[in-house]
Amino acid sequence: MNRDIIVIGGGLVGSAIAHGLSRHTRSIVVLDEGDRAFRATRGNFGLVWVQSKGDGAPHYVTWSRRSADLWGDFAAELREETGVDAIHRRTGGIHLLVSDEEFAQRTALMERLRRQSGNEGYEYKMLSREDVRDRIPTIGPDVVGGSWTPYDGVANPLFALRAMHASLAARGIAYRPGMAVEALSHDGGTFTVQAGGEVFRAKKLVIAAGLGTKHLAAKLGMRVPVEPQRGQVLVTERLKPLLGNGVTVTNVRQTAEGSVMIGDSQEDVGFDNRTTVPVLAEMAARAVQKFPALRDAQIVRTWAALRVMSADGLPIYVQSRETPGAYAATCHSGVTLAAAHSRVLAEWIAGGPRPEETLKLVPERFDVPQAAE
Ligand SMILES: Cc1cc2nc3c(=O)[nH]c(=O)nc-3n(C[C@H](O)[C@H](O)[C@H](O)COP(=O)(O)OP(=O)(O)OC[C@H]3O[C@@H](n4cnc5c(N)ncnc54)[C@H](O)[C@@H]3O)c2cc1C
Repeated sequence: MNRDIIVIGGGLVGSAIAHGLSRHTRSIVVLDEGDRAFRATRGNFGLVWVQSKGDGAPHYVTWSRRSADLWGDFAAELREETGVDAIHRRTGGIHLLVSDEEFAQRTALMERLRRQSGNEGYEYKMLSREDVRDRIPTIGPDVVGGSWTPYDGVANPLFALRAMHASLAARGIAYRPGMAVEALSHDGGTFTVQAGGEVFRAKKLVIAAGLGTKHLAAKLGMRVPVEPQRGQVLVTERLKPLLGNGVTVTNVRQTAEGSVMIGDSQEDVGFDNRTTVPVLAEMAARAVQKFPALRDAQIVRTWAALRVMSADGLPIYVQSRETPGAYAATCHSGVTLAAAHSRVLAEWIAGGPRPEETLKLVPERFDVPQAAE
């Protein structure tokens, strides 16, 4: 089967890129391993988040902001085309702080981010306890304040994915689940990919297979050093509104249906996506400290999912030098960056210039010069 482009991976990253590429050609196939794979897209928290990311990496702050700026229009386009609402809301975001030490550290971080942003500017406010309480009356007595930026928001990642898949289908692009790529090779300017007993050929190949990317990209000489990082999530029964005037808070988020999601764990435990009671208990305790009303809430669901994490937490976008036409893309903020992946990154892969904010988001940044003997 010959196509212009093969995209490996139908999670948030592969789907967003395929969606963007469909502006240039409809001859695309998305091959997706499916339920057996580790799929961060199905287990994440749904924040479109800028605040506090990218200390020491202003290009990444700009990239995240650009995506957050594009999200509203991106969601509207998807809704119009497919009828599926990704429920994106740019509400501004607050990170709650529960000690004076945390407050001081956060203030220093936000100020560093503002300074590093130079002429672009970085709008933020450190909120007193009273400021926070005005916006979110349900906070607990331990909350001493919070940091706020206007850039942050939230979306429903499952609806976003469904909308992108529906859009691909409407544009005649094949999304093929249950297609684990078993082999790929390059010869005479053509990529050959074997999956599910079928053979696909294309001049261009995008590997966006989450944690599967490292292994697949290596076959075409691309280094994509990502490792799993486990995040656990608790979900409560549906509750009446907890978070005031629709503001988005890190780690405790109420869905449009009323469930409260709690999630802030980060564990390096390899490819282990089991939940553990001690970590869940700690997360629940932190959430109750911030929102005492959660003390009586029933937990109806828990899960763990694996983040696709590079050593510095930033995305990796690479084009193969050995086999031009092959690209790999991974990131640990695939919800936040979905709009930029579709609207901007895909333009580069289609043949345009590489977006300036991504010039440093290459694997070479991990090359540390060896100390002289
Ligand atoms: C607990 C948690 C909370 C998070 N919270 C947020 C958040 O609030 N905001 C945010 O922006 N991001 C968040 N993230 C990160 C976000 O979920 C990921 O960045 C994003 O899902 C990565 O998407 P992906 O498409 O690269 O990877 P995945 O979702 O893992 O998708 C990869 C796809 O590739 C396929 N695949 C793998 N190997 C093969 C193969 N050999 N052949 C064919 N297909 C293959 C799989 O089937 C899968 O569908 C969170 C992640 C976790 C785990």
